[in-house]
Amino acid sequence: MLSMFAPWIEWLDWLRSERDARRPEVASRGQPSGQVWLVGAGPGDPELITVKALRLLQQAEVVIHDRLVAPALLKECASDALLIDVGKRPGHHAVPQSGIEALLVHHAMRGKKVVRLKGGDPFIFGRGGEELATLKAAGIRTEVVPGITAAAGCAAAAGFPLTQRHVADSVCLTTAHYSDEQDHSNWAALAADPARTLVFYMGLSQLAHIREQLIAHGMSAETPAALIENGTTDSHRQAFCILNDIDQVAAREALRTPCLLVVGKVVALAENGSVKALPQDPAQAGQTEALSA
Ligand code: SAH
Repeated sequence: MLSMFAPWIEWLDWLRSERDARRPEVASRGQPSGQVWLVGAGPGDPELITVKALRLLQQAEVVIHDRLVAPALLKECASDALLIDVGKRPGHHAVPQSGIEALLVHHAMRGKKVVRLKGGDPFIFGRGGEELATLKAAGIRTEVVPGITAAAGCAAAAGFPLTQRHVADSVCLTTAHYSDEQDHSNWAALAADPARTLVFYMGLSQLAHIREQLIAHGMSAETPAALIENGTTDSHRQAFCILNDIDQVAAREALRTPCLLVVGKVVALAENGSVKALPQDPAQAGQTEALSA
């Protein structure tokens, strides 16, 4: 008797599976059903976010964000979105990396649309690679939405290119700050090419070490350098100097994080980037104009 309904049951099952395939929250029973987007928020100016990133932010149910993300961007979130600040301050990790990853997994497992909003680009000193690996391991659908990294934003705002024909034919995005406090930099390689622009992320506390190492490995002490604080934002500050003076200038101008160091001939191409050495005579120190807002 029941067998006469079999084709109908089969057909109903097929219909149900088709419907479920279009509903991400039940797409795979027993599997995590939310989704995470690792989104770059850009370097500071809230307008320097991509159209795609903004749309995802507006649609997100949960937004897990960094300290460097512009507050104006968070106002774009839906009024009922859950906002979680996991911002790291220097020397103070508000939420440890493992905790951030656990939060991402937790909310995605509950079927939420989760945006992990990160300063600059998620894959450049943003630990986006670690978060992606964790989410993949947990079977969670994840998409990465790139952003304008601090190097690009700061150079544009300070008015010099990162590459320029006959001046610089490569750029190196690097750091001298390592979580294990060891020095993993290959200084010989970094110092070797005068036609390469070096951009140091998280370099403010390491300026004396960067200066010493680059010069010890053969880079000219006169190489132009720029220190850019809060690049692209309303509180953007910048100082142009030479490699030999980077730590002194940063101390004198009381530069604060977030601050980017750029070393290379391109810096001198900025309109106001006339690069001068600090006078040796401290009596003249007040006469150098390193800082311009
Ligand atoms: N993922 C980010 C970088 C995170 S590491 C990106 O792609 O830009 C954090 C470091 O980036 C800071 O210590 C600082 O060196 C740099 N940084 C980020 N935003 C900056 C800004 N607006 N101005 C200057 N430096 C910035």
